[in-house]
Amino acid sequence: MKQTSKNIAIIGSGLVGSLLAIYLKRLGHTITVFDRRPDIRNIEFSGRSINLAMSNRGWQSLAEVGIEDEIKKIAIPLDKRAMHVTDKPIYFQKYGKEGEAIWSISRGVLNKKMIDLAEEAGVEFRFDEKVWNVNLPEATLFTGETEKGEWTEYNYDIIFGCDGAFSRVRHKMQRRSRFDYSQNFIDVGYKELSIPANEDGTHKLDKNSFHIWPRGKFMLIAMPNIDGSFTCTLFMPFEGDVSFESIQTKEQAKDFFKTYFPNVRKEIENLTEDFFNNPTSAMVTMKCYPWTYWDKVALVGDSAHAIVPFYGQGMNAGFEDIFVLKEKIEKYGDDWEAVFKEYQEERKPNADAIAELSYRNFVEMSSKTADPKFLLQKKIEKHFASLHPDKWIPAYSRVTFSNRPYSEALEMGDAQEAIMQKVLEMPNIADKWDSAEVEQKILSLI
Ligand code: FAD
Repeated sequence: MKQTSKNIAIIGSGLVGSLLAIYLKRLGHTITVFDRRPDIRNIEFSGRSINLAMSNRGWQSLAEVGIEDEIKKIAIPLDKRAMHVTDKPIYFQKYGKEGEAIWSISRGVLNKKMIDLAEEAGVEFRFDEKVWNVNLPEATLFTGETEKGEWTEYNYDIIFGCDGAFSRVRHKMQRRSRFDYSQNFIDVGYKELSIPANEDGTHKLDKNSFHIWPRGKFMLIAMPNIDGSFTCTLFMPFEGDVSFESIQTKEQAKDFFKTYFPNVRKEIENLTEDFFNNPTSAMVTMKCYPWTYWDKVALVGDSAHAIVPFYGQGMNAGFEDIFVLKEKIEKYGDDWEAVFKEYQEERKPNADAIAELSYRNFVEMSSKTADPKFLLQKKIEKHFASLHPDKWIPAYSRVTFSNRPYSEALEMGDAQEAIMQKVLEMPNIADKWDSAEVEQKILSLI
């Protein structure tokens, strides 16, 4: 349906805000993007490269505006996990079917590219301009140097809040009656570390793998960058026996890496240095509702739903919001109230589902990987899936390699869990986990 051109402001030039700007500009609107940060294209590269995993949902949203192929050129496909388990040689686990992969991409490179593309399309960016307040019914925003200083007022037809997990726009919506809001921090934090490239620019570990060093209460992961380096993330409790709090000196950090990550021994100097140079950050699940205000204001991306990163889906989910928003715009045209209503009604259950799945993955990784019953369950599931790949699609594949709703992945995952609980009750199950009897039992329960 055709739309009348609107004067639209987007608050936040992050991954979600810049992609939304491209979408809306192509639909014929006048777009101004505000960001409190300076233009990341002019900031000198800090030497640290933070990367993300892009999967089907993200690619689908980039393909819609024709930038998928261009972005793939700066990404590395990872078709398997490389498991670095203590006292065992490295082993590999294929992610999905042949050809299925997640893609490692630099957050900064991707963001810069999307700002470039948005600018080429005619979007105006106003960097170094922090939004302090929004008048929701009037779609007016106020920017300025400080909260107490003088503000500049801008008036728009519509405002999108793409200003991340601690959104100012949402903060304003929170003050209204009947606005639901919750925020939950987990007791685990993360720190980004790096493994530099070999002298000839090649990668020190297999470059087409997502590397994981699971260590019970904590874990290290690593994803490759196109310059030959790896970005590692250390997830660890803030407090306790082995925690960020328990590592205070260089010696303690060296001991920690030597003890728990012997196969990165050569990198220890570098990891130790990063450990003290880089910040320790917290992770939060944030839920809220409604996401929109009349036909004037809408939240998109982390501002509407921030999740813990254990499924690698935060950005993917934000990009999918934009894809769905466009479907609604095509359906309802100028009726922005209908666009916003259906957008939030469709996306909210899916955002809640990926929040739940991500949190469960965190619990699974941190407390269940040492539980023999849980390990037996995983063994049975894997064996059955190898016999009947069409009948047992793991939740991970439904989330990562399909564009079916997240809520469906959660629902199917719950149904599979109920089946497995029945299977685990079978007498002597540990001895016959790969038997035809167990296979038949699962088939009868599906
Ligand atoms: P943000 O990236 O937070 O951008 C918000 C923007 O708004 C910023 O530019 C900010 O400067 C600006 N802003 C904020 N307030 C104001 C204001 N008042 N005025 C003006 N501007 C403002 N997702 C994946 O899909 N795959 C992964 O592998 C993955 N890994 C992750 C690993 C970690 C450790 C973490 C923490 C997250 C990970 N994510 C991943 C999630 C992903 O990073 C986020 O979902 C994504 O960055 C959200 O984008 P956004 O544009 O909504 O918000």
